[in-house]
Amino acid sequence: MNILLATAEVTPFAKVGGLADMAGALPKAWAQGGHNVIVILPLYGTIDTEKFGIVKTDMLVDVPFGTWTEYAEVWQGTLPDTSIPVYFLRSSDYYDRPGIYGYHEGFEDNDRRFIFLSRAIFEVARALDFRPDVVHAHDYHTAPCMPMLKVHYHSDEFFRHTAGVFTIHNMAYQGMYDPQRAMEFCGFPASEFYTGSWYEQDGIFNSMKAGILFADKITTVSPTYAQEIRWTPEGMGLQGALQSRGADLIGILNGIDAATWSPMHDKHIAVPYDADSLKKKDINKKALLKEVGISAAEMKRDLPVVGMVTRLTEQKGVSILAACIESFVANDRFRLVILGSGEAKYEDLLKNLAYRYPNHVRVGTGYNEPLSHMIQAGADFYLMPSKFEPCGLTQMFALAYGTIPIVRSVGGLADTVQDYDPITFAGTGIRFHRYTGEALQHALETALRLYKREPHWSHMRRNAMAQDHSIVTTAQRYVEVFGWAQEARR
Ligand code: ADP
Repeated sequence: MNILLATAEVTPFAKVGGLADMAGALPKAWAQGGHNVIVILPLYGTIDTEKFGIVKTDMLVDVPFGTWTEYAEVWQGTLPDTSIPVYFLRSSDYYDRPGIYGYHEGFEDNDRRFIFLSRAIFEVARALDFRPDVVHAHDYHTAPCMPMLKVHYHSDEFFRHTAGVFTIHNMAYQGMYDPQRAMEFCGFPASEFYTGSWYEQDGIFNSMKAGILFADKITTVSPTYAQEIRWTPEGMGLQGALQSRGADLIGILNGIDAATWSPMHDKHIAVPYDADSLKKKDINKKALLKEVGISAAEMKRDLPVVGMVTRLTEQKGVSILAACIESFVANDRFRLVILGSGEAKYEDLLKNLAYRYPNHVRVGTGYNEPLSHMIQAGADFYLMPSKFEPCGLTQMFALAYGTIPIVRSVGGLADTVQDYDPITFAGTGIRFHRYTGEALQHALETALRLYKREPHWSHMRRNAMAQDHSIVTTAQRYVEVFGWAQEARR
């Protein structure tokens, strides 16, 4: 099958969250399964072309845009350790600047930047003579590919067999744009935008809604989230659109790339280990504490370490953590090591805690890939108290590293973490339900009771590490859905 993956993020070139991990890992698994894959994303100013061996090609593609034509240079690289081609669109107007989306509110011209990307991918495919069986678009950034496929390319001989699959990684970001601009940039007649039309939501252009309604099949990143977005406020206003496509909406659990996330082969951690050498996790714990500045004298007191690696947004539950953390750290119950970047108010809050409890709270800010691995390997528990969570990858990394997840039972967290049962010794972590500081406090108390308490501690860690969340299974499910999309191609 010829698969064209269109995305705003791909590991290791440009990453903000889990979308990048998936966009980097799926193509490898598809290629191993014998499929032809190309990946297209923008050449952001932050991408280090030299480091990744990304070179300019002689392709300059014309991109129909509004009633005029623009162009983009095409640069080429490969996914690391593979021969899978990645094509980068270079446009000094749109991408040649620091950052992927811009700070909090995003760049002012994000409508234009991502609509351009959505349109350009078709023209790059044509220039490469790559006839996709499926265009796989991700999140609001490339959602406009779905209506474009149907409106501009449906009767185009080159795209005669191309189906559109749209994957939702997070409903919270929908690509809501000024309708006049967005319809024009997409090359759609202004008259197609009206109350209740497929592009309209609350009077504005909604990329996500158009992606959902025009795609041949829609997927999201966990089975529970697929239900939640249809039937609960997690649909963020698009429940109606999602219900209308209910039969075509499939939850496929994300998976993890064992080449990058396995404690036996992780190049960022102090010592490799597996389920039979869990003692070595202690060495990784010490290395982590040293890395974050805990003194050797302090380290002698063995306290549990709770880790977090996260974007700092309301979604990730920082406010309920703030509501209960102080009594734990003030009473010397555990150490908290957080690596996070995002909203200033949460960064300030955590830094303030770290200032007041320097031996108990350590906070890393900014993007730090090596430290994110050290936390997974060195922490005893991994905390994810999310308000909502489409899938979440970091709790799956934690499971693979024998680091016990403490999670709120929502979305993909409910699909990947089973509550530990001390009677049957089954389960992989600790779950809680209500989104309150009190509920989290109870969960943390449960965790502390289980810390190093045998035989439970060994059972939990071994159960966790025995979970299989391989990207290979995930990739196979996508291929199955691509097949259905082709049958359903409208
Ligand atoms: P989301 O996509 O909602 O941000 P996920 O758990 O699905 O959450 O994926 C987050 C990804 O980003 C993981 O690979 C995680 O390790 C990584 N990550 C998040 N914040 C940082 C950071 N500050 N430094 C390094 N990696 C980070």
